[in-house]
Amino acid sequence: MPVRQIIHVDMDAFYASVEQLDRPELQGKAVIVGGDPQARGVVSAASYEARTFGVHSAMPMAQAVRLCPHGVILPVRMDRYAEVSHVIQSLFERYTPLVEPLSLDEAFLDVTDSRNLFGPAEQIGRRIKQQIRDQTHLTASVGVAPNKFLAKLASDLKKPDGFVVITEQNRQEILDPLPVGKIWGVGKVTEGTLQGHGIRTIAELRGRTCAELRAVVGNAAEELLRLACGEDDRPVEPDRERKSLSSEQTFATDVREESLLTGVLLEEVEEVAERLRRHHIKARTITLKLRYGDFRTVTRSETLHAATNLTKPLWEAAAGVFRKWQGRSGGALRLLGFAASGLEPEHAGQQWLFPDPEQEKLKRLDEVMDRIRDRYGRRAAHRGTGGLPGDPPTPA
Ligand SMILES: [Mg+2]
Repeated sequence: MPVRQIIHVDMDAFYASVEQLDRPELQGKAVIVGGDPQARGVVSAASYEARTFGVHSAMPMAQAVRLCPHGVILPVRMDRYAEVSHVIQSLFERYTPLVEPLSLDEAFLDVTDSRNLFGPAEQIGRRIKQQIRDQTHLTASVGVAPNKFLAKLASDLKKPDGFVVITEQNRQEILDPLPVGKIWGVGKVTEGTLQGHGIRTIAELRGRTCAELRAVVGNAAEELLRLACGEDDRPVEPDRERKSLSSEQTFATDVREESLLTGVLLEEVEEVAERLRRHHIKARTITLKLRYGDFRTVTRSETLHAATNLTKPLWEAAAGVFRKWQGRSGGALRLLGFAASGLEPEHAGQQWLFPDPEQEKLKRLDEVMDRIRDRYGRRAAHRGTGGLPGDPPTPA
């Protein structure tokens, strides 16, 4: 088997960089993208200028503001980031069909068979990096390596605007001095456990026998040793199916009022339904996530008769679950979320020779709503909740 050639591309501080691109006056400034600091929001992305103050993603926004009081706080504009992401993804697809996106700003490419057409993997990596810059005016960090683990590690080594090639020859030299936390899958807890046994670097990990390691981390020992030697045979998986699409809101103060909650829920259903349609997928199961003021969280699911991406049936199911929950417990909520899962391609399953006119009508209504929102923004078109939850939504 020929040595595989994997490229990992990771955009630098992606959301924050897109904001700086769209508003040049923000270039060189500390930009923090995320939720409202007054409303328990969290940081989605921070520009490198903000990172020097210790701000990082997933940190509570209130803490970020304390660390970096002069930072410019901006809301998340997912549609815009998705637009830029689309440009980057289509660039990848020029070089190989084997693209595995990990998120909007990160992907693996298997270019093993692309070399006949485009030259060595390193050259492909450099071209992609340059083309991203030319087409989006943003920087990416790129790693080229014989497997996914090393490629991801490589893209991270010289961030931002990095370009690192790891080969069979230099891999051990690069791996050995790194902390064990750099190994894919080793989180804070495992890192702490390993450190507790005197294993801080990858070299120290590699110095242990499998039996010794098993006493520390159990069944993960073999896999860890393989990774410590830079070995990883996981394939790049294109079209890796998304398991669910979701939308949730955390409230600034706990909310009990039914009309407010159903309004939020409808917004979430509309957003998820729109994303399903945009990705040409349908969902078979819906789930509500309800978190109380004391952080107790319950989820309630329902499976639909047939998979759909139409707003109305998704909303009816969501509203029905909401009403049932409310009838039983109610209570003030800190968070309300909606998720769609059991995803399948839009055209999978039964094709109807004679489409149901009611379904066709709903489909056209959704298309109109999607177009309005595309043109005028998310807030432009909303349906009413139509009174009691469970009642059909009033068409806008
Ligand atoms: Mg990134």
